[in-house]
Amino acid sequence: MNYDLPLRLKRLRQTSASRTMLQETRLHPQQFIAPLFISELIGSKQAIKSMPGQFQLSLADLPAEIEELSSLGIPAVLLFGIPRHKDAHGSSALQDDGIVQQAIRQIRAINKDMLIISDLCFCEYTDHGHCGVLKNDVIDNDKTLHLLGEQAVSHAKAGADWIAPSSMTDGMVAAIRQALDAAVFNNTAILSYAVKYSSAFYGPFREAAQGAPQFGDRKTYQMNPANSHEAVREAALDLDEGADLIMVKPAMNYLDIIYKLKQHFPEVPLCAYQVSGEYSMLKYAAQAGLMDEQHTMIESLLAIKRAGADLIISYFAKDFARWHANQR
Ligand SMILES: [Zn+2]
Repeated sequence: MNYDLPLRLKRLRQTSASRTMLQETRLHPQQFIAPLFISELIGSKQAIKSMPGQFQLSLADLPAEIEELSSLGIPAVLLFGIPRHKDAHGSSALQDDGIVQQAIRQIRAINKDMLIISDLCFCEYTDHGHCGVLKNDVIDNDKTLHLLGEQAVSHAKAGADWIAPSSMTDGMVAAIRQALDAAVFNNTAILSYAVKYSSAFYGPFREAAQGAPQFGDRKTYQMNPANSHEAVREAALDLDEGADLIMVKPAMNYLDIIYKLKQHFPEVPLCAYQVSGEYSMLKYAAQAGLMDEQHTMIESLLAIKRAGADLIISYFAKDFARWHANQR
């Protein structure tokens, strides 16, 4: 017998065509940013064991990498540098011939249209692995601000389009904006890691970027995963200081935060960083035969977009773009 139901929502799920037509959230390679690790310590690309399918690159590997990304339709890269020299102040981060500055110039020469975003921090450049200069083993916030401004100008001079400060230093956006404007880089934008949690999901990244803290942790500057209201304060402050775009990092465990920020600041471009742990977890689960890699990848990315992210930084950028290209 048939029940007299007012509506049957399954009707619109009956065909592939109707499911596709009514899909509310769509992903496109143009919304993706590919993170790249560029190392001064290697002569050619080296696999990152903790992140299957990811590599540390030498400068010599950049032409092939950038060409591949462009051919896949990925418009932007986020650069992390691994320098030869580390010291207490992270001085090699400030040099115009530093590894990231060289990489920026080279990428610009390879492809003038590639959007170059430089991660701005000191943890890869300091011998103690913390995100700024220390005083009595604690970060000296305001001394770090000055150095962040200097580092930002050197990235802008090399040709970076967007500067992405990731250290959660109080006042970093204002300090960087002032430094950039003083050096007449008015058109260099700031993508602030406004809401960055102290997350265990950064684990695999530590091998990739070789920037693990040598003592202690980052809980005095990164946010407590238990907090949500504080995310709005962080984002509001960075916007007041002149951030052009804001970021939530990590993504998957913080979808509520992405959603909340999009509701609070619908007019502000919002970026989410699907971090190394999110990526490697799916890769290893797929390798173990537990889940289908492609489907879990797409589902995880859709969730980030559905929550409200406009842009996604992901180690899956290339895998996703290849999948997308095969959809027709
Ligand atoms: Zn850092």
